[in-house]
Amino acid sequence: MKTIKGLIAAGLAETEAARRIIREDAMKRVYKDYPELKDIDGRIIDIRKDRLIAVIDHDERLAKRYDVEEENLIARRDMIIKENHIDPEFDMEKSICAKCGDTGFVRGKDGTPRVCSCKRAELEECYESCGLGDYTSFTMKNYRDDYLGEPEKRSEIKKQMLRAMLGVGDTASKPLWVYSGAPQTGKTYLAVIMAKTAISLGKSAFYTKCENLAMLESDTIEDVKRIDFLVIDDFADDVTLHGDTGSVLNAVLEIRAASGLCTILVSALPLADLISGCDMRVSGKLGRAGKIS
Ligand SMILES: [Zn+2]
Repeated sequence: MKTIKGLIAAGLAETEAARRIIREDAMKRVYKDYPELKDIDGRIIDIRKDRLIAVIDHDERLAKRYDVEEENLIARRDMIIKENHIDPEFDMEKSICAKCGDTGFVRGKDGTPRVCSCKRAELEECYESCGLGDYTSFTMKNYRDDYLGEPEKRSEIKKQMLRAMLGVGDTASKPLWVYSGAPQTGKTYLAVIMAKTAISLGKSAFYTKCENLAMLESDTIEDVKRIDFLVIDDFADDVTLHGDTGSVLNAVLEIRAASGLCTILVSALPLADLISGCDMRVSGKLGRAGKIS
């Protein structure tokens, strides 16, 4: 699986190359229109080399002469730039995205860094690789507390999930959470946007249905044990009793709990029913889980 930080880092070399090309193009254009400027810039570079030799030679008089010559050239250069309204920074590398300075992250109003809008393609690629490819229309922007009734309750659940995901306040001490809610109350929507929000904040995250967990590739399961935030949807007691699901789930939860990494299980069943019906190893962990409802 891919992380958003990894994807942004992988694109850095490309961005750097693009910045260089843009700079070279700008210089080529300006030099073509103002050949004197090209000549001056070339002479300045030569003078600096000659001056260095004079300094090594302890020839202070010669070094001084080069200083004066360079000053005159720079004055002439500034005048050409000013008179012709040339961008004074035409020969400097500029950020392609002014918002994030090509770092890929901007600070939100609350000061926390989040993925810049220029990295939309990387975000989409990351969602795809983190189990969220089927939920392109599920976004925090489209989400509404009142969509399925009980807006206050949903708003509260959303806040509880955010707190758990961010590990703020007393939630930090509990890595495992169970969100129980009746069928058709928009649990999956909330689960998906929590995973997407985590990714847009630069975290590594993964979303999966419980029944698919044991079918993930072994590399992905290893990643899932160590990512910042994991959401397991459609969690039910009987699913943990089929095939390898119980043992995979147990191993994943064991390592995540030991590292204090947040996992949210989303289920249509109340926590008490899950504890009594699940695979024994998983039940033991659920007994220590926090409750979101
Ligand atoms: Zn940007």
